[in-house]
Amino acid sequence: MARRKKIYEGKAKILYEGPEPGTLVQYFKDDATAFNAEKKATIEGKGVLNNRLSEFFMTGLASIGVPTHFIKRLNMREQLIRQVEIIPLEVIVRNFAAGSMAKRLGLEEGTPLPRPIIEFSYKDDALGDPLVPEEYIIAFGWASQQDLDDIVALALRVNDFMSGVMHGVGIKLVDFKIEIGRIWEGDYMRLIVADEISPDSCRLWDIETGAHLDKDVFRRDLGSLTDAYTEVAKRLGVMPTNVTHTGAKPKLIN
Ligand code: UDP
Repeated sequence: MARRKKIYEGKAKILYEGPEPGTLVQYFKDDATAFNAEKKATIEGKGVLNNRLSEFFMTGLASIGVPTHFIKRLNMREQLIRQVEIIPLEVIVRNFAAGSMAKRLGLEEGTPLPRPIIEFSYKDDALGDPLVPEEYIIAFGWASQQDLDDIVALALRVNDFMSGVMHGVGIKLVDFKIEIGRIWEGDYMRLIVADEISPDSCRLWDIETGAHLDKDVFRRDLGSLTDAYTEVAKRLGVMPTNVTHTGAKPKLIN
């Protein structure tokens, strides 16, 4: 059997060559990292949950007209995606202060922000993904002013969609990170949502209890990460079939 070609391996995912030009297969690993990979672990089931959850969010975004790289889920751990040229920025949207912003400004975590705030980090592990102003982005040619306007518009649409979906299942969307890719259609370039959207890249707090249902459970040793992600998947009705407990008794086959 021919071995497929690995295009890239990151901390939580692997990209393989896809079946057709312009496509890739995105494989979700069980590996978790935090603090710029200083903390590492393998968490059984995380990849399966993130594959499902990212499918759910990307499909939902497509249904309201937000373009994404997602084509279809292939199996428990893999999805077919469009190949994009990744813009080397982490686009972070914040609704409430938390994490690095809370620290930087001395704000209590959970402080509501006057409006959604978008910030950009330059994707470079060796530098620890430093926060960068728009001026750097344009001066260094990572994106143009027009790209940035489009990225902000996309990020706000993703925020509205994700906040609404999460609110509907009793979860507060505190902040999240997305990545944006370029695709070329003839002479035209379009920006689309790429990478993944999952509890690995969002802060999700239970509205009632304030419980963390995201990667902070791992970062801050707050309990079982799989349980937290499973709770999100359950509330959204996207539990992977092989993990679902229906409570039904086994049936005799005649
Ligand atoms: N985030 C991410 N990848 C990163 C950095 C941040 O997915 O490399 C997400 C993180 O999960 C959170 C949001 O972006 O939902 C804002 O993260 P923050 O800047 O507060 O950094 P952190 O506290 O995670 O270091």
